[in-house]
Amino acid sequence: MPTVPRRRRSPQEVAAAAPVSGDRRVLLAAPRGYCAGVDRAVIAVEKALEAYGPPVYVRKQIVHNLHVVHTLEEKGAIFVDETDEVPEGARLIFSAHGVSPAVVQSAMDRNLQTIDATCPLVTKVHKEAVRFARDDFDILLIGHEGHEEVEGTYGEAPEHTQIVNGPEDVDKVVVRDPNKVIWLSQTTLSVDEAMHTVNLLRKRFPTLQDPPSDDICYATSNRQAAIKKIAPEADLVLVVGSANSSNSVRLVEVALEYGAKASYRVDFANEIDESWFEGVATVGVTSGASVPENLVQDVLHLLAEYGYGDVEEVVTAQEDIIFSLPKEIRATLKAMGDTSRGLGGRRAGA
Ligand code: SF4
Repeated sequence: MPTVPRRRRSPQEVAAAAPVSGDRRVLLAAPRGYCAGVDRAVIAVEKALEAYGPPVYVRKQIVHNLHVVHTLEEKGAIFVDETDEVPEGARLIFSAHGVSPAVVQSAMDRNLQTIDATCPLVTKVHKEAVRFARDDFDILLIGHEGHEEVEGTYGEAPEHTQIVNGPEDVDKVVVRDPNKVIWLSQTTLSVDEAMHTVNLLRKRFPTLQDPPSDDICYATSNRQAAIKKIAPEADLVLVVGSANSSNSVRLVEVALEYGAKASYRVDFANEIDESWFEGVATVGVTSGASVPENLVQDVLHLLAEYGYGDVEEVVTAQEDIIFSLPKEIRATLKAMGDTSRGLGGRRAGA
């Protein structure tokens, strides 16, 4: 049976279905959007395209955002799933999520010229995995099986590591020596859920060691803290971010957990459904760590058309972290005398 096209309501009709205009407002989370690791990875691809010319190959999505990937594709980046899709000797960038030693080896086997855009905070977790495997610990890696970052960290020490997806996996864990167990984690988990999993693991293994420093990164924690502040007052929380962006998906979950009456993730403003606004006075807005600010501004413009033009930014942290570009790019830029963006990142945070 043919589907009947749904009539889209005009902004005026949406506004009429919402509470009286004086009650309508937007609470805009800060920090939101780009983190230092994403900023660095995106600039690495841009600079590689400028310095070497297209094509430049990128293994997996450089960061988990559709808009960023499409924009870089238009500039000449070619995204591949595996190294064997890259012509021998070509230039390949590893994404911000990191890769296992096996992937590095397969790139070497193909004589690829690699640029490692792995976020330094992911590299830190890799080093922890190597170190604790060397000390013969069992490593419980809390994270989502199949996520690129988890595959990369796991690949550092597969014989010592078990992936724990969440509380439901705790009872399945088997270790050799309960007194020699450490947990590590994916950088983009829900802080609360990860801690819940750790508490359950610790009930089973009371001497379970913590990572030397937090594995869930500052950007993930800060974006969750900001939405926790907004959610209790929000009738609706909109999270800008892609479906495969772990930290964006977590923001929707955290918003609902902390009291938002409804929450949706959208890649673009045009995915917003006008039916979401019925009876809505306060809209919370945030974005994942891989989302450029222009996509958030598009959402704010649409909200203003719907009568939600009163925007209050709720600032819960200041971010000033900038990571220097991958060393392979720094060397090339230095040789070219290119200091246009310095050798660090563009900016960090919201
Ligand atoms: S979310 Fe955290 S770990 Fe991931 S790229 Fe950003 S700063 Fe790095």
